[in-house]
Amino acid sequence: MGAFAYVAPTSLDEVLTVLSEHAGRGRRAQVLAGGTDLLVQMRGLDREPRTIVDIKKLAETNRLEIGSGEVFVGAAVPSAVLNENQDFVSLLPGLAEAADLIGSTQIQGRATVGGNLCNASPAGDTIPALIAVGAVCVIAGSGGRRELPVEDFVTGVGTNALAPDELLLGLRIATPPGRWGDAYLRFIPRTEMDIAVAGCGVSVTLDESGTCTAARVGIGAVAPRVLLVAEAGAALVGSTVDDAALAAAGEACTKASSPISDKRGTDVYRRKVVGVLCRRAGAIARDRALAKRG
Ligand SMILES: Cc1cc2nc3c(=O)[nH]c(=O)nc-3n(C[C@H](O)[C@H](O)[C@H](O)COP(=O)(O)OP(=O)(O)OC[C@H]3O[C@@H](n4cnc5c(N)ncnc54)[C@H](O)[C@@H]3O)c2cc1C
Repeated sequence: MGAFAYVAPTSLDEVLTVLSEHAGRGRRAQVLAGGTDLLVQMRGLDREPRTIVDIKKLAETNRLEIGSGEVFVGAAVPSAVLNENQDFVSLLPGLAEAADLIGSTQIQGRATVGGNLCNASPAGDTIPALIAVGAVCVIAGSGGRRELPVEDFVTGVGTNALAPDELLLGLRIATPPGRWGDAYLRFIPRTEMDIAVAGCGVSVTLDESGTCTAARVGIGAVAPRVLLVAEAGAALVGSTVDDAALAAAGEACTKASSPISDKRGTDVYRRKVVGVLCRRAGAIARDRALAKRG
């Protein structure tokens, strides 16, 4: 592991000062949330010196708030805390199941959804689920705060839209309407602890007659970055999320994909699998929405 300094500020102002001072001097500072990606990277390929800025001691990044109009997940909240919160799990079951897929129980005690997003892996499990629920990134920097939809946050393999003096504070999700459901599915060659060959998050809103009025579909591990597939959502709107509509949505996901071939699967296989996952996740999301009737 390369040389590093470590700071653990207790206020956001301190974090921003460290980040902007380093940025101004052309020195590297890197935020640490759970460290389950960062430390692995520092022990391997990325041995450049840096200052690690631990955000686990900040009140704002540890905030998990489930309000009447909005859910806020702070960037330091570990997956284990999310999945033990029954209000969170029943409100956003698809996002919760994506967070619950990350690593093992031990990993989930540290790993955050924010870190999964900032790490910007094409196969990051929570990213398609965040896109499906329409999550918005709340970003703080020396110039103030700004917001960005998750689908615009990841810019490429391992890169995101943060400037060197910025950090992700957390994720804002509008509280879902009544007849709404989400789901996330991934395919891995092993039963657990593996990287997705393909992943798909779907959310649907139904009206009283069971017709879909809004839908969002995110796909992972089938392109250089996780994608919002607007055409897949559009294929579900106006339908009862029946087999024909799900097949059309799956086909749209397959078309939107541009995967690599590697030891986990060929590009042809990944394109096919992502379509199947979309159909299945869409059916689960629909059934969850229907279960909320009355
Ligand atoms: C054994 C093992 C199994 C795993 N299994 C999975 C899996 O099944 N699915 C999966 O998707 N991932 C998996 N991972 C990867 C990792 O655990 C997840 O990506 C996790 O969510 C990362 O969160 P973290 O809080 O630990 O991030 P960190 O390691 O702290 O940070 C990751 C990156 O994001 C940056 N960052 C973090 N938070 C912020 C912030 N608030 N603002 C700005 N930048 C920030 C860091 O600087 C770093 O570059 C696994 C890792 C291990 C070691």
